[in-house]
Amino acid sequence: MKALLSQTIKAGLTAVLLLFILSAGIGESGAAQYFTRVKQVIDGDTIRLYNGRLARYIGINTPEIDHRTGVAEAYGFEAMSYNREQVKGNKLHLEFDRQRADRYHRLLVYAFNSEGRMINELLLSKGLAHLFSHRLNTMYFQRLLKAQKRAMETKQGIWKFWSETGKGPYIGNLVSKRFHLQTCPVGRKIAPANRCVLPSAWEAYFMGFSACRVCQPPHIFYHKASQGVFYNNDIRPKKASPKRLINLTIQGAVTKCRTEK
Ligand SMILES: [Zn+2]
Repeated sequence: MKALLSQTIKAGLTAVLLLFILSAGIGESGAAQYFTRVKQVIDGDTIRLYNGRLARYIGINTPEIDHRTGVAEAYGFEAMSYNREQVKGNKLHLEFDRQRADRYHRLLVYAFNSEGRMINELLLSKGLAHLFSHRLNTMYFQRLLKAQKRAMETKQGIWKFWSETGKGPYIGNLVSKRFHLQTCPVGRKIAPANRCVLPSAWEAYFMGFSACRVCQPPHIFYHKASQGVFYNNDIRPKKASPKRLINLTIQGAVTKCRTEK
């Protein structure tokens, strides 16, 4: 019995080790999921795994952090700190969707913390990320959208200071889940069957669309910034509290959309 038990444990350990080794294999393992530890938290939606590989959370986008200058979009450091809390010292359970990696060779993952809660979803529900869907990776789209809707309705994080700055209606692509200005060359190419009209940017986000990067309709991350709140933080996580507030050129990003019409 003892021998059997020890054999079972050995087999179990081998399996775990094998999974760990496979995890270093750029996802060619064929395994739909695996367990790993985290070496480093890069920002709200990107981590470095123990094997050195970068992994990006699927279906969300967190505010950018410029590690070179220590400047971040509003809530960038909050998102990173929250992400760090979730992955700290834990064995992370990762799940893949249809695409294993993006063009930067980052693994694309749904990450589950030690309590089995999906970090992608948690970030959305705290308002520390917005939904950023990809047509190939939609396994948890409805679940993620639900989390974002709750955050929007209760004005969490990035949604707290929302004001409709742009002028609708916008054109939505039902397949890519991007929304565009009516003048956008990309938006104009959407097949009529896939096209929809969104009366406001709020409605676009509420329905799970995210802003086109070409025509730049009002972007959620610009909103707090446009009210003069933009954090210039020390990038070290322990000092992630705002140091000073600076008025920002990013406001121009929203204006630029209008002048491009
Ligand atoms: Zn566009």
